[in-house]
This record gives sequence, structure tokens and C-alpha cells, in this order.
Amino acid sequence: MAIRNIREIGDDVLNKTCKEVKEMTPRIKELIEDMLDTMYEANGVGLAAPQVGILKRIVVIDVTGEDPIVMINPKIIQSDGEQTGHEGCLSVPGKTGVVTRPNYVKAVALDENMEEYEIEGTELLARAICHELDHLDGHLYVEKVEGRLMDVAEIEDEEIEE
Ligand code: ZN
Repeated sequence: MAIRNIREIGDDVLNKTCKEVKEMTPRIKELIEDMLDTMYEANGVGLAAPQVGILKRIVVIDVTGEDPIVMINPKIIQSDGEQTGHEGCLSVPGKTGVVTRPNYVKAVALDENMEEYEIEGTELLARAICHELDHLDGHLYVEKVEGRLMDVAEIEDEEIEE
């Protein structure tokens, strides 16, 4: 188990387009294991390879804490509906902003064995898939925030006042 350093906003690696994975190698297997460890250690629901400085089209997602999803060369093939809500990113620590995403997505990806599979997600899973796939094309959610980027602490205060 190895925790990798999470790159933060301002680091050029987060604005680059990632390359497709052509074949599984021991190094990529290790990268995926490390990405999962790093995501869980940081209490995140998703992590994309560029966030640990690797420009490959790999993301890991786990919105429940017990169901890790590995997506290699993922593509969204269908989306529907809309959801508007707060989003955050391990590369933008302590911040949150409101982003509108599809409420449903269907994606196709390869698993750790390079076998193709389809996945459907709604709500948080749909949001996480969209957010993580954006990372692979060099995009951060802050580009899509409606209104302003807020400190997580501000939101917590608001919730207490309500
Ligand atoms: Zn992110």
C-alpha cells in the first residue's frame, strides 16, 4: 500500500489531456492500487490519475466506501436529466462550489483486466463519473461552478444557521 502525493490546483499536470492505456502492466496495476489507497486515505469518492501526476486515462471511484470502481479509458455514452449541488475535489482542498451535472450517466470503460464493461449511475455516482472523467481532459470542476467557489467552513456555518 502506498499513498501518493495529490497534486493541487495550479499544478500544470491537472490541465493536460491524458493518454489512453494500451495494455495492463505491473506498474499500472500498482498505480491503480495506490490510487485507491490514496482516495480512501483522503476520504474522497473519486480520484483520477492526473491527480497523482500520471497522465493516463484511469479513474477510481467509490461513492459508498465499500464498492471500488476502476475505470480505464472511460467514455460517457449516454446521459440524462440534471442535478445541481455542491461539489469538491481532492485537488482543490477546503473548497466547494455548486455544479450542475447530468442526473444519470451510462459509461463504458475497461476494468483492471482490460475487459470492457458498462456502468450506469445516478445522483452522486453520476456526478462522480462526470467529475473524474473531466480530469482526464484537463478540466477541474471550478471551471463549472455556478456563483463563487466557497470555503467548506462557510457551508458548514450556513448549515448550522439553517
Ligand atoms: Zn477532482
